[in-house]
Amino acid sequence: MIIAKTTEEIELMRESALVVSKTLGMLASEVKPGVTTLYLDKLAEEFIREQDAIPGFLGLYDFPNTLCMSPNAQVVHGIPNNTPLVEGDIISIDCGAIKNDFYGDHAYTFPVGEVTPEVTKLLTVTKESLYVGIRELKVGNRVGDVGHAIQQYTESFGYGVVRELVGHGLGRKMHEDPEMPNYGRRGRGKKFIEGMVVAIEPMINMGTKNIKQLRDGWTILTRDGKPSAHFEHDVAIVNGKPELLSTFQYIYDALGIESDEEAEFRQ
Ligand code: MG
Ligand code: MG
Repeated sequence: MIIAKTTEEIELMRESALVVSKTLGMLASEVKPGVTTLYLDKLAEEFIREQDAIPGFLGLYDFPNTLCMSPNAQVVHGIPNNTPLVEGDIISIDCGAIKNDFYGDHAYTFPVGEVTPEVTKLLTVTKESLYVGIRELKVGNRVGDVGHAIQQYTESFGYGVVRELVGHGLGRKMHEDPEMPNYGRRGRGKKFIEGMVVAIEPMINMGTKNIKQLRDGWTILTRDGKPSAHFEHDVAIVNGKPELLSTFQYIYDALGIESDEEAEFRQ
């Protein structure tokens, strides 16, 4: 069952989302060659606790860390470790936080130094597909409309859309109804309702859509070893339309990037 949130609850959820947004912004200037993902994980844990929040992933389903850190061919759920990032890597950072009993959960894929034009394109298209999906999140539409839009857009570039992992409703639990696949058919699936909050999170592979899992029981990788990108926002339906609760603006401020991509989703 989809749990609609009140206006007050949505404002609390914005706070939770912004804890994560600020954490990703803090990490943006720390992502560079030579830095380990475990070091970034420790920074994030301290930073979240300083904001009177709790790391949302740590211990959830027994996950061992604050961040999911998934470099290159890792799609999601990578475990932070002591391997330094190198120039030309990409690193997907997924972060969760609990504040006021509500979860925030969002993600960004960072280039480490200079990456190839091919990889830059994967990052650009995956992030664009997130907004293509969010545009469909309105009262009157259904789950399949979001998935269809993301799939149509990313497959037009020859990319693979991961099937086994999906976005989700968000609230007092990390994973609520509905599941939000990044593929689907127009007009199918559950109907969207006023006040719902979801995490939309395209996981897009440069090559095959097929994945495998490492023996650690967590890490998901592309089956062909080609890179994968992951971008995620927390979004509410307010006045029938999508309203972003999370923001990439802290990342852009840290990196000196100009962007007005989020403007259409602010009421
Ligand atoms: Mg996430
Ligand atoms: Mg999520």
